[in-house]
Amino acid sequence: MPELPEAETLVRGLRPVLTGRRIQQARIHHADVLRVPARAFRARVRGRRIEAVTRRAKNVVLVLDDGVLVVNLGMTGWLAPLGVAGRRPPRPTHPAVTFRLDEGRLVFDDVRRFGCVEALDPDEWGRRSDALGPEPLSPDFTIPGLQAALGASRSPLRSWLLDQRRVAGVGNIYACEACFRAGIHPAQRAHTVDEARARALHAAIRDVLGAAVEAGGTTIRDYRNADGEPGTFVRRLQVYGREGEPCVRCNTAVERTVFGNRSAFFCPACQPAP
Ligand SMILES: [Zn+2]
Repeated sequence: MPELPEAETLVRGLRPVLTGRRIQQARIHHADVLRVPARAFRARVRGRRIEAVTRRAKNVVLVLDDGVLVVNLGMTGWLAPLGVAGRRPPRPTHPAVTFRLDEGRLVFDDVRRFGCVEALDPDEWGRRSDALGPEPLSPDFTIPGLQAALGASRSPLRSWLLDQRRVAGVGNIYACEACFRAGIHPAQRAHTVDEARARALHAAIRDVLGAAVEAGGTTIRDYRNADGEPGTFVRRLQVYGREGEPCVRCNTAVERTVFGNRSAFFCPACQPAP
């Protein structure tokens, strides 16, 4: 599912084409992606100008001249700018919401519809955003802050990393990759991660997310950028999805374990059991 690098890649593609556009009206194909009645949602976005296109955690955030449009991509969500500034991505196959703009359309497409589109007032969005952890690629994400937060939790590290209140934007793929790069077993309890490993983890999170943003994200199945193209970071994953394949460092077979209802991939030699 889309994580920070995929949302960031989508935002970077959308920003130059959507900034300054005006939403004339919204058409709701599937109201289950909204959190308010369709009529209320349409009224909130009608006539609004898109002032900025940003990202927070895994969310695409369109700052409007009145309010904030927050798009959580869920498992398979995609935003397609059709005919905006000459963009011609492939036609969406499962449109859930179509925004008619003063030039072209913006379609929220979502095959499985675990995604969500919300029109919030700025205070509401501010409270939501404040409840999220620091952005790992920003200066707000510090080694002392990470150490203190790890020390306060007994969760297995992989699960801890998925909690958006701890570090924003990390999902299962990059959590597994960061644990591997830091040499920490994914089931090790957060509070037992020592200072040296916390430093390694801090660097690993930033390195893997930064490299994935540069590669345009990871496409396992569905993820696409604003032009409908896949990300290429899948070729550089070191443990995720590589069960039984040799570790890139030591040749030991990569293993998979399941906890918290999610698979975790790790090298039993490079990431010794706690
Ligand atoms: Zn290894």
